[in-house]
Amino acid sequence: MRITINRSKMLYLLVLAFMGGLCILLVSLFVNGKTYAMHTANRHLHGASAVDSFGSIEDRNGLLLADTKNGKRVYNNDSTIRRAMLQTIGDTSFFISSGVHNTFKSELTGFNMIWGINTAASGAKSNLKLTLDAKLCKTALNALEGQKGAVGVYNYKTGEIIVMVSSPTYDIQNKPYDIDTDKTGTYDGVYLNKLLSGLYVPGSVFKTVTAAAAIDNIPDILTRKFNCSGQYKAADGIIKCMKEHGNLNFEQALNVSCNSVFAQVAIEVGAEKLQKTAQQLGLTESFTVDRVNTAKGSVELSEAGQASLGWAGIGQYTLVLNPVSIMRYMGAIANDGKAVNPFFVDKVVQTDGTVLYKSGSPDTKKLLNVTTTNTLKSLMRSNVKNNYGDSRFKGLELCAKTGTAEVGEEKSPHAWFAGFSQRDDFPYAFVCVVENGGSGIGTAAPVIARVLKEMDKTY
Ligand SMILES: [Zn+2]
Repeated sequence: MRITINRSKMLYLLVLAFMGGLCILLVSLFVNGKTYAMHTANRHLHGASAVDSFGSIEDRNGLLLADTKNGKRVYNNDSTIRRAMLQTIGDTSFFISSGVHNTFKSELTGFNMIWGINTAASGAKSNLKLTLDAKLCKTALNALEGQKGAVGVYNYKTGEIIVMVSSPTYDIQNKPYDIDTDKTGTYDGVYLNKLLSGLYVPGSVFKTVTAAAAIDNIPDILTRKFNCSGQYKAADGIIKCMKEHGNLNFEQALNVSCNSVFAQVAIEVGAEKLQKTAQQLGLTESFTVDRVNTAKGSVELSEAGQASLGWAGIGQYTLVLNPVSIMRYMGAIANDGKAVNPFFVDKVVQTDGTVLYKSGSPDTKKLLNVTTTNTLKSLMRSNVKNNYGDSRFKGLELCAKTGTAEVGEEKSPHAWFAGFSQRDDFPYAFVCVVENGGSGIGTAAPVIARVLKEMDKTY
């Protein structure tokens, strides 16, 4: 009898311990479930089969870009769209760390308390909607004609990026076998989103920064008379110009991108103020674009002598800038000095309606005062009207600046084109850099012209 009572007591204790443990487990699951599910030890999520549970990805118009069918990741059936969207979507091995496959892994897997991670059984599949227009991204990639570089177009009022393309790229459905062993440089930077993570010598695009510093620091800058003899002689060296421009005012100097005048102006402004202007314009900071920290530009002039400062004023010396930071700066000039941070993920929603992510109102930052903004705007409009020609960009009313950035004697310069449309009904700013593309107006401007003309038909 005594043995039976003892055994019963033991059994009660065991049941109690079991119930207690179960409670702790349930509470812990409720509190930490998402962390457990997303933990790197969860091979279902982070192993080779991780994307098997991913939801779909579509562009701003509902065009399906990626989905999972029968446990296999499938993509849009247009190979150029697949190549144009590669760095935005990412790969299945997460080599492209800035792609949404990686940065929105948690939402794409659609973890929720009832069903755990997204499975066919749950029926609650997630869908990630981009702000990008995949067909326009295709136009941009085609316009690059196989050259390396980056193209970006964004709505400077809302922050929505419409076009984001990085080259080189590859077809995710037919990954080249030699992509990681090729020695010719064909795939250099292929895993990088160059709009967000690239750093380039800015060349004459930086004259818009020197101009902003000059407008703020030299009161009579717009009425000054300059002369270009084909070069500018600083105390410790010479800055060469493309040609002998003769007499010109500041506006004409920006129109023809005169190095002599801008070197002279940079030296007059001084290293400290020029560097400070670049900082204030957000060009030397990193900011976040949908969980990706953008590459931080560098304008370091504390050691620069006179000639080096002159070279810096025309975007050379040791300067490097990131394309999306330039695009944001262009947007600020268009938007009365206020920069709206760009973004490209609109929302992630499950089929049952649960919103897993929604882009909030983007951060804004005042980069310029209204007077400087208006002056820059009119100078950049003058560039297009009086030098590049409105006929290249019919009806778009662009304000812009080209750049042809020297990157060593052996190589062709980087070609740049950055600016915005001044039309109220077409609030878009843009940037294009073509690596070793030659001249800004010859190579980068036509890419933007093609994209914006296409966009103007439907936007
Ligand atoms: Zn000149």
